[in-house]
Order: sequence, then structure tokens, then C-alpha cells
Amino acid sequence: MMDLLNQHRRFYQTLKTKSLDFRLKQLLTLRTAIKKYEKDIIVALEQDLGKHEFEAYTNEVGFTLDSIGYTMKHLKKWAKDQRVKTPIHQFGSKSFIQFEPYGTVLIIAPFNYPFQLLIEPLIGAIAAGNTVVLKPSEYTVHTEAVILKMMDEFFEKDYITVITGGREMTTELINSKFDYIFFTGSVNVGKVVMKAAAENLIPVTLELGGKSPTIVDKSAKVDLAAKRIAWGKFLNAGQTCIAPDYVYVHQSIEPLFKEKLKTYIHEFYGHDPKESVDYGHIVTKRHHNRLIDLIHPEKIYSGGSHDHEKLYIEPTILENVTWSDPVMGEEIFGPILPILKFENLDEVIDMITSRDKPLALYLFAEDKSVQDKILKSTSFGGGAINDTISHVASPYLPFGGVGPSGMGGYHGKYSFEVFSHRRSLIKKSTKIDMKLIYPPYKDKVKLAKLFMK
Ligand code: NAD
Repeated sequence: MMDLLNQHRRFYQTLKTKSLDFRLKQLLTLRTAIKKYEKDIIVALEQDLGKHEFEAYTNEVGFTLDSIGYTMKHLKKWAKDQRVKTPIHQFGSKSFIQFEPYGTVLIIAPFNYPFQLLIEPLIGAIAAGNTVVLKPSEYTVHTEAVILKMMDEFFEKDYITVITGGREMTTELINSKFDYIFFTGSVNVGKVVMKAAAENLIPVTLELGGKSPTIVDKSAKVDLAAKRIAWGKFLNAGQTCIAPDYVYVHQSIEPLFKEKLKTYIHEFYGHDPKESVDYGHIVTKRHHNRLIDLIHPEKIYSGGSHDHEKLYIEPTILENVTWSDPVMGEEIFGPILPILKFENLDEVIDMITSRDKPLALYLFAEDKSVQDKILKSTSFGGGAINDTISHVASPYLPFGGVGPSGMGGYHGKYSFEVFSHRRSLIKKSTKIDMKLIYPPYKDKVKLAKLFMK
């Protein structure tokens, strides 16, 4: 690992990455690389997760191409030194904020969007002028292989390196002296990463997970709520960090809501989702086993079937769920949707605020006072009113968690900022020199009080 880091440091010290032209060229190269490997990536995503080409393109390939275009368009403006005001007692100075790359950064990605969650932060890291070590998920082997081949072909190894391997390799990486670590994954591994980084005082961004609540108020348009929740939940077979984990629905509309959910599941994936090309599969047998254990047969409202060989789990709705059920004890991260009923919004707020701050929260309500009440009384990484998932798809919104669901946000300009140190700089005139600050201080306190009050 030391050799790798030294190679990267040497490359960084050539100062090539400091040039805006270099960065723009690398972004263009990345675009060319993705376009060349587009088909391979889409095939790999189908093999690893059963992703349909539409989802593979919109959520992974096209997502990153779009982001490269956006970054290239704005990078010159973002990277410019920012001139700021200078306080009066610093008279004769000019003040700037400079965006300086950290140096060599490590990016670790999870399995669920194995291409996008590695490449999207990479775009920010390149834009900010860093050299990068990429660690794709070991669970999605086909995507990992394409990424390795693609990056090897298009980038110098000392500038961008892909490292493959499992937990041991990740452990070695996070214990190495990178200048920044950007980790996307589970809360538990997030803690491991932060502990290791703390040992070397390495700054981190943690994009984690947790249980993201969805609330359906009695003022909601029930049909549309069910449609948008079914879409956000069963996308990628529920393996989306910001998928609705569970739904709190007002008891007066609960039967109708469940019925509508079932209707949309059938509309989206047909009467046998196992045969649907639009529906994904679970990443590994281990993950499959974990999920099956969360399905209580007596609480199944619809779905519940599975096939271990095909890594298939039917979109499943659980009813009459309580917080003591195992399905409420951990982040689900699969196609199982527990429904809880509520009578009074305050119960829901109490439940949400007594638990870890979630990565996402979704509220379906037409009543503005309900919207205000929920927004005012809860804290969460990001979310939507009357929709699910969509806040992730905007370069204008920083994407990330809060508290145990993560720290730091990225996408668009925020990705550039994440991978840049904001360096403060004062350029002082040598023509004027304020005598006030120098000793002896005799009789100067009064003068100082004129400036600083
Ligand atoms: P994970 O945390 O299990 O694994 C991520 C990587 O960490 C793995 O590739 C592995 O190499 C490494 N790892 C695992 N255990 C380790 C250990 N004990 N020590 C050191 N390294 C270890 O995550 P995953 O299962 O790939 O992804 C699912 C999780 O990621 C979910 O919790 C989900 O919510 C979260 N996620 C978050 C976001 C986000 O943007 N916030 C996006 C996608 C997924």
C-alpha cells in the first residue's frame, strides 16, 4: 500500500492535476471511457443485480454522463479563487478562498449502484484535482471487472487506480494515509471507517444508510402515493439506500393504500414478478437469506414468495407490523415493505425522533400544515414531499445523511467542494505597515478598541 500511495504522491507532486485544462481533459476521458464501455456496464449490471437496461442507464451510466457534462460546464467558475472582503483592521490586504485538492483520495463504493456510487464521487475528485484510488464492491463482480478494465485502459495508474478485494483489502486501505476518504456503505462499516480514519486524522465523507420512513397522511392522494412509493421501494429490488424502508399510513386510508400498492406492483411487474425483466434480483445468497428471515409469514399482506437459486424475492407487503418485529430492527435494503398504522401524527413524530436521524424521509400530504409540522419537527438527510427518491437526481441539491445516516453531501458543485480544502489566503501590501499591532503596546489598547468593538 505504501508503494501505491508513494506513486500517487509523486504524480500529485508533478502538479499536473492543479491545472484546470488537465482536469477538464480527464473528465472528457472519463466520458469517452464510459461511452466505450456503456454496453459492458449495462450487461454487467444485469448479471450482478438483474437491472433492466432502463434502470442501468438512468441510474448509473446516464446519471454519471450527465454529471460529467454538468461539471465540465461549471468547473472553471467553481475552481476560481473566491475574492472575499477584508476586515478594516487588516487594511492593505486582499483576501481569498482557494480551492485546493486534498491530494490522494480513497473512494469506497457499495454493491447496490456499483457503477454510479463509485464514478459519481470520482467526478468530484477529478474536478477538484486529486489523484484517486477506487475500491468497487466485491459483491458485484461483473461490474467490478468492467470498471477495472475501463479505468486501466484510459487512465495512468499513478493517477487513478482501481483496487479490488474484500474486507481485508478495505481494512488495509482505510488504515493507509490517504488525504481523504469518501465511503458509501452501511452504518456499521461507516463506524469502522471513521475509527480507522481517526487514527491518522483523515477527513471523511460518510454516505450511510438506515431506516428511511415514509408517511402517508389522510390528506394524501392515496393512489398517487401508492404508485410513487411502490416505484421507489421496488426499484433495484429494494436495494436503494434512500428507498422507503417502511410506511406509516393513517388508519382511515390504510386498507385502500395497501390495495393500491398491490395494484401498482402488478401494473409494474406483472402478476408474476419473477418473470419480469423490469424487476431486479438480490445481490448474493447471504443477503437473500437475511431478507427471507425478515418476512413473517403471518404478516404477509401480499407477495412473500422467493427463489434462492434465482436470488429472487417477490415484492412483499407486510401488514399489522409493530416496532418489535425483526423487520423493524434493521435497515431492510430489500423488496419488503412493512406498513404501520397511525391515528395521530404526533405518534409518528415521536417514533421518528426517538430513533437515529434517517437518510431520507418522504411525506405524502396535501395539507400544508401537516407538511410544515413534519418538516419542522424531524431531522433527516434529504427527502421529498409527495414523492420518493427524486432528491438524489438533482445536481443542485447536496445529497447525504445527517448524524448516524452520514456526514457530508455531494453531487454537482458540492462534489467539487467535498474533495477540495478551502484554503484561506491573505495577500498583504508591503507598502503600508500598521504599527498598531507591534509591541510595545503602551497606549495602544484604546486604539484597538476603536477598531474592534
Ligand atoms: P457495506 O458497508 O457492507 O460494504 C461496503 C464495503 O465495505 C464493502 O465493499 C467491503 O469491502 C467493506 N467492508 C465490509 N465490512 C467491512 C469491515 N468490517 N471492515 C472493513 N471494510 C468492510 O455496504 P454494502 O452492503 O455494500 O451496501 C449497503 C449499505 O450501503 C446499506 O446500508 C445502504 O444504505 C448503504 N448505502 C448508502 C448510500 C448513500 O449514498 N448514503 C448509497 C448506497 C448504499
